[in-house]
Amino acid sequence: MDKNTVLLIDPILREHLVGRDHPERPERFDAVVQGLQEAGLLERLGRVDPRAATEDELLLCHTPPYLRQSKHDVLHGNGFLSTGDTDVTPNSWEIAARAAGGVLNAVDAVVSGEARNAFCAVRPPGHHANAGRGMGFCLFNTVAIAARYAQRKYGIGRVLIVDWDVHHGNGTQDIFYSDPSVFFFSTHQWPLYPGTGRADETGDGDAEGTTRNFPFPAGSGRKEVLGAAQNSLEPLMKRFRPELVLISAGFDSRTGDLLGRFTLTDSDFTDLTRTAMGIADQYAGGRVVSMLEGGYYLPGLALASAAHVQALSQI
Ligand SMILES: [Zn+2]
Repeated sequence: MDKNTVLLIDPILREHLVGRDHPERPERFDAVVQGLQEAGLLERLGRVDPRAATEDELLLCHTPPYLRQSKHDVLHGNGFLSTGDTDVTPNSWEIAARAAGGVLNAVDAVVSGEARNAFCAVRPPGHHANAGRGMGFCLFNTVAIAARYAQRKYGIGRVLIVDWDVHHGNGTQDIFYSDPSVFFFSTHQWPLYPGTGRADETGDGDAEGTTRNFPFPAGSGRKEVLGAAQNSLEPLMKRFRPELVLISAGFDSRTGDLLGRFTLTDSDFTDLTRTAMGIADQYAGGRVVSMLEGGYYLPGLALASAAHVQALSQI
């Protein structure tokens, strides 16, 4: 593995919600893989080995009662989580644990210096899940688990999470709302599901100022989202100085999405990626681990993912 971009492409992650009529569908995985292949990225970039997260790793961000309840809901064929609007099939708990575990291997690759950065084509998404509640298509908060894992395993102090999904990452915000070591930056459409993410939600106590939300109305795009990243996030990072940058890469903020009404283009995702990489280069030794969140218009998801990974790999 040379010191470049690596990919987590774990075909088992396709199998969540097979046979269900749902926007968060297996074909999303195929679209991302196809997009990377058509851009010539699949063959040129190295791979991260898949694995499942252990229960101890899931417990970095989730409560024991939630792990028990969610496993029970999935295995007993309810078809959805009792805690919120997340559809499941009998394999979903195992697959969500595998999505998280693959991302942890990506953290290992990047933090150990084997790879420069990583993109993980994971599903289900994670950013709506908080410590005790899966919701919004999410079971486990993969990006949050990755942040805590990097801190515990490698002694990394400050982690930046950039979330450009069209929805607010309420679960991620919640998990780190009182934790000044993880900076959560989110741009999102508002009003929209899940209804959180007002600009005045900025963190609690010691963590005041390490949550920053940029809600924008339907129809917003490059000017607003890239503007927030360049004019607000970059200056804020002078003080925070992250040692690792994680991206909740939702592409439902792309123009044409079925669930969002933002107008970001593929080249806007290139520029957003470069902005995050610039911050990582400046403070974090270039370390970026990015993971898929939303994105429901399949042709757009394919193109936006490819633009994102192309920017990460600087090919
Ligand atoms: Zn979303």
